[in-house]
Amino acid sequence: MNHSTHRKVLISGASIAGPSLAYWLNRYGFEVTVVEKASTIRGGGYSIDIRGTARDVADRMGLLPRLRKAHVGTNKVSFVDVGGKPVGSLSPEALTGSEAGLDLEVRRGDLAEALYEPVRGQVEFMFNDSIATLDDRGDRVEVTFDSGAHRAFDLVIGADGLHSNTRRLVFGPEERFHRYLGHAFAGFTLENDLGLAHEGVIWNTPGRAAVLYAHEPHDPVYGFLVFGQDEPPFDAFRDPGAQRDLVAATFPERAWHIPRLVAAMREADDLFFDIVSQIHMPTWARGRVALVGDAAHATSFLSGQGSSVALVSAYILAGELATHADHADAFAAYERTARSFAEQNQALATSGGTVMVPGTRDMLDARNEALRNPATLAEPEFSAAYTGLILPDYSHVE
Ligand SMILES: Cc1cc2nc3c(=O)[nH]c(=O)nc-3n(C[C@H](O)[C@H](O)[C@H](O)COP(=O)(O)OP(=O)(O)OC[C@H]3O[C@@H](n4cnc5c(N)ncnc54)[C@H](O)[C@@H]3O)c2cc1C
Repeated sequence: MNHSTHRKVLISGASIAGPSLAYWLNRYGFEVTVVEKASTIRGGGYSIDIRGTARDVADRMGLLPRLRKAHVGTNKVSFVDVGGKPVGSLSPEALTGSEAGLDLEVRRGDLAEALYEPVRGQVEFMFNDSIATLDDRGDRVEVTFDSGAHRAFDLVIGADGLHSNTRRLVFGPEERFHRYLGHAFAGFTLENDLGLAHEGVIWNTPGRAAVLYAHEPHDPVYGFLVFGQDEPPFDAFRDPGAQRDLVAATFPERAWHIPRLVAAMREADDLFFDIVSQIHMPTWARGRVALVGDAAHATSFLSGQGSSVALVSAYILAGELATHADHADAFAAYERTARSFAEQNQALATSGGTVMVPGTRDMLDARNEALRNPATLAEPEFSAAYTGLILPDYSHVE
């Protein structure tokens, strides 16, 4: 039986988890409003992979043809040493354990657009706004917005990412839930005058990585400078100038494309600076409020699975809400079904870090040695995590 009747749901965040959840809730007959602090769905961006169980969700949403068209098709990932000398190269499948010809790699913004398109006009979107206060009154949630609007909803779902505003308002400060993975990074785009196409190149010294990621030859290249830091560089968060100074000071080498990357990072108008961290919460719901996607269980980019897990948990949360009359039962069932899948994929960040940013000289040498005999760097647990959940079927509630 479908229990959506007239239930009003507010979702905070319109990236991956938010529009996916909106799609399923709308399909099950809920009244959905999405609030997004940005002025629009953000396009472009680094490429992300959709694989395993998440690919099944995309299939059930009818998105596969569109995502296949948007597939960026990386052919190889190469590794170079501090002087830029090649160490080895692999197919993306040999690196991640994904399935050639099946997995999808699309720009994050293309995925967000593909998820937005089917719900645009079907559900209400409030851009340029954010939840200011939440008051769970037991039978409804009273919400005020930064814009001054005041509305009541049956349920509120935070899909507002790693630094979730909803989580802070309902569960408390981020420090309680974040697990710092020992690195910070700067991401930005630069002009593709390096002759790269459909490939990634990773430069390493112990504890540091500089990454160039290219799609079409005429598209901008994505640059990432990743570096180990014992403590999160909280001071730099308050000051964009300090972020650029810290990254530049951490990459002083006059070798390979490092000076070019540092100069591009200094000038970038799309600089994205953050720490590499995950979110671990004892529970994803409290009263009439729940979390989904990175807000609940961020895996970090070292796992390569954040978007995939977001797609899967949004599907399950919507299905359980449609299946249960009581939201508490629905939230409990959502966690029972999705939590171990999220945790299994969070665990991949350790191996991802060992491959992408080996922390010590010994670890780097071991990684490079493995690259010289490159059958695969992927561990069996990678594909086990990607496919670690058989999707429940909720079609009976449509
Ligand atoms: C450099 C990098 C590389 C990555 N590579 C991969 C990869 O290869 N594969 C993969 O699967 N994942 C990857 N990820 C992770 C992936 O991007 C995230 O896991 C995924 O985007 C999570 O989706 P989400 O919708 O939960 O959160 P987000 O994408 O973070 O979206 C949150 C949304 O909420 C909005 N928001 C924030 N605060 C508020 C507020 N107060 N009010 C309203 N709206 C708000 C934001 O504007 C945003 O639209 C990578 C991440 C990074 C940073």
